[in-house]
Amino acid sequence: MTTTPENTWKTVDEIADAVLSCTNCRLHENRTNAVPGDGSPVASILIIGEGPGFNEDQQGLPFVGRSGKLLDELLAQVPLSRKDVFITNVVKCRPPDNRDPLPDEVAACKPYLQRQLDLINPKVIVTLGRHSLLRYYPEGRISKDHGRIIKLDDRVLFPLYHPAAGLRNPAIKRDLQEDVMRLPEAIREALTMGVSQQPEADSDSNSEVTESQASQISEPIIENTQSEKEEGDQQLGLF
Ligand code: SF4
Repeated sequence: MTTTPENTWKTVDEIADAVLSCTNCRLHENRTNAVPGDGSPVASILIIGEGPGFNEDQQGLPFVGRSGKLLDELLAQVPLSRKDVFITNVVKCRPPDNRDPLPDEVAACKPYLQRQLDLINPKVIVTLGRHSLLRYYPEGRISKDHGRIIKLDDRVLFPLYHPAAGLRNPAIKRDLQEDVMRLPEAIREALTMGVSQQPEADSDSNSEVTESQASQISEPIIENTQSEKEEGDQQLGLF
């Protein structure tokens, strides 16, 4: 097997270490801090924004400004907190003046996000905003697809508007507040999809989710089981 840098990263912390010293694209030149991501490395929910903004660049953490406060409020509706999810961005360094990341910057940063996906192996990917959505669902339109439960192989894609859009537009904020209430349903859907693959799971595991368990879930299951993590998934590199 060919050894590439990304498959030498065995943990989410190792990815973060690589990101912090990365100079693979021009975005490293003006950053204060790279922002690898934050949260549980065994989360069932991976939240992906576009790129760090001013506050994130200053603090080295994702979604810490006003958008982050709204994201926290939205998660609390479900209820979830940051320790229950993993939050990251398509690019890990702030684009100047908060412009959209350029295609070559996205491509340079792709191995980090791909490896985060591989290791965290979430059941649900929540994309925030149009750009993040299009990287996983090129035919998508955020105005039409926000709040939809979209099956991607054995995962669920759950697009939301970007919280920054909600801060600018009260109608979008209301959509965000309504859409996020479907997140538990998205998780239940993803778990049901996973059940169909249980015969391949590690027979030593005592944390498999059975079909009847999945049907009874009223609150989201937050952490991946080890057997689910070991299954891996190479099929989501869609951008
Ligand atoms: S944006 Fe990604 S590829 Fe570019 S310097 Fe930062 S970590 Fe490296």
